[in-house]
Amino acid sequence: MSNDNETIHEPDERLIYDFFLAAERQGPGSPEATLRALSFVNGLGERPFVADIGCGTGGQTMVLARHVPGSVTGIDLVPEFIDRFNRNARELGLQDRVKGVVGSMDNLPFEPESLDLIWSEGAVYNIGFERGITEWRKFLKPGGYIAVSECVWLTESRPAEIHDYWMSGYPEIDSVARKTEQMRKAGYGDVSTFILPEECWTEHYYTPLSKLQRSFLDRHKGDRGAENLVESLRQEEDMYRKYKEFYGYAFFVARRAD
Ligand code: SAH
Repeated sequence: MSNDNETIHEPDERLIYDFFLAAERQGPGSPEATLRALSFVNGLGERPFVADIGCGTGGQTMVLARHVPGSVTGIDLVPEFIDRFNRNARELGLQDRVKGVVGSMDNLPFEPESLDLIWSEGAVYNIGFERGITEWRKFLKPGGYIAVSECVWLTESRPAEIHDYWMSGYPEIDSVARKTEQMRKAGYGDVSTFILPEECWTEHYYTPLSKLQRSFLDRHKGDRGAENLVESLRQEEDMYRKYKEFYGYAFFVARRAD
């Protein structure tokens, strides 16, 4: 993505990986939110097969794996994230049942009806919520669960600045009610939802990221791409602080309906 037309919104992908590799998580969330979502999942059995799609370096995967028996496969497009994921699993002694695999969420390496639980935090937007939940359903056993977090509007209307910001970044953002309806249409039932609390964005995401910015800029002294990346992260955080009453992330937990 590095080219002459590079803008502040399109930093070099390698720089993005380098920056986020040092972070515990690559999107908003928290261990408490992961466990709250897990509390809506019942009857997993003794050896469930779980997939965490768009797992990043596995912050939430390790929380999940400590509370779920069986095997957990993390899938992410970025090999550096998967290397770190597998290192984290080894350090926690989870390597026998927690594995990271490089792969894409639009071409998952699972057998049909093989998964008891699909997990995905802050990642489905990469192919779009509706497409993701629709295409992933066939990998679930009948009655299997999906737990996915996704950005949502929190109010019916909003200032033009934040509306336009999301329309240019992710126009699929919508209300919890509309996304719940999409889940029903895609063949899921028993849909439970909750909004991630503010600390999932601040204490667990933007604050740790801003602490990483100094060492990142030191590592890439004089690199305009690195400066642009940090600037765009700061802008994103400013936007959140200014407009957080209007948007957030919601968790959706549901069951394959047949
Ligand atoms: N679930 C993690 C990471 C969220 S960031 C967390 O909550 O911290 C989104 C992740 O999706 C990144 O790690 C990114 O590399 C990954 N990703 C982007 N496109 C993808 C694709 N097509 N297939 C699999 N992973 C993808």
